[in-house]
Amino acid sequence: MSTLPLLPPNEKPKLIGIARLAAQGESIREGHNIEYFTLPTRSLLNRVVSNRSLPFTWAINPYRGCEFACKYCYARYTHEFMEMTDLDFERKIFVKQHAADLLRHELKKVKRGEEIAIGTATDPYQPAERRYEITRAILEEFARHRGLELGIVTKSNLVVRDAALLREIGQHNRRFVNVTITTVSPDLARILEPRAPRPDLRLDAVRQLNLAGVDAGVICAPVLPGITDAPSDLEALVQAAANARAKAIFANPLFLKPCSASVFLPFLEKEFPHLVASYRERYEQHAFLPPEYGKRLSQLMVRLRAKHGIRNEYDRYARRAHPVTASVDEEQLSLFQRSSLSV
Ligand code: SF4
Repeated sequence: MSTLPLLPPNEKPKLIGIARLAAQGESIREGHNIEYFTLPTRSLLNRVVSNRSLPFTWAINPYRGCEFACKYCYARYTHEFMEMTDLDFERKIFVKQHAADLLRHELKKVKRGEEIAIGTATDPYQPAERRYEITRAILEEFARHRGLELGIVTKSNLVVRDAALLREIGQHNRRFVNVTITTVSPDLARILEPRAPRPDLRLDAVRQLNLAGVDAGVICAPVLPGITDAPSDLEALVQAAANARAKAIFANPLFLKPCSASVFLPFLEKEFPHLVASYRERYEQHAFLPPEYGKRLSQLMVRLRAKHGIRNEYDRYARRAHPVTASVDEEQLSLFQRSSLSV
């Protein structure tokens, strides 16, 4: 087994913390230009620290990095901590070691009512999971406990593999599965989320989970101005979610921090050159769009849910995006009545 090569010593003379642990990881396997490494792990359950109001207290990410390679992915910053590049995030996948054992001890920290989100900075059902089954081991541990509140976020229909286990967990805990779908167009999804399962496969996963007695909904995030935010496109998604018996559907707009902009803007130049100027204008000074955009989006989703009969059950669990984004408070909807979402 080879080890991950260290960066030139004259550039980074000393690696510390997670960067040092990553450098100690052993290469497990290589294929499709993706390399997998072990990651010695001290802690699995991370308390979420954010100045934004988030619906969960704890986060678990079974892997570090994500092979799905979404162009807008905000979680690329997690590889920066390991002294790696934005693109390494989708090519060097780290597999957390002894996850279930760690979790067993760390669950003592969780107080009643505190929610645990699985998959806030990586997809817990990305291809690595077929082989390493870290997420499954974590769920098996959860099945031994009572009174927990769990939310899973994924773009993968592999989650259906664990339907029976999720049902078992649900006997003594609350849990909700959020499947992220940004568009029903397979062609658009292919360029936005190159290695994630097709939207119809994700919708089928929502259907299968709900039929199996595991509550599942859809997160439409991020909504991309000028690309996926046409009301007719969003309605097609809500309708498809309703057909898949989704228990909830939410939408959140794109936010663009420097780590994601460095991948997303070149992608935009290649695929949507006519939008580059407006994106630069919108995101140059602020990572988030003006609140009015989010309010119009929320208002549209309220109307679409009502029209297609989605009641947003398990509202609290459904208020997640993947990766973590700001949630929009529908109680504060204003009376924007524009037919377009354009800012
Ligand atoms: S957005 Fe989610 S699924 Fe896509 S690359 Fe990032 S972590 Fe993976």
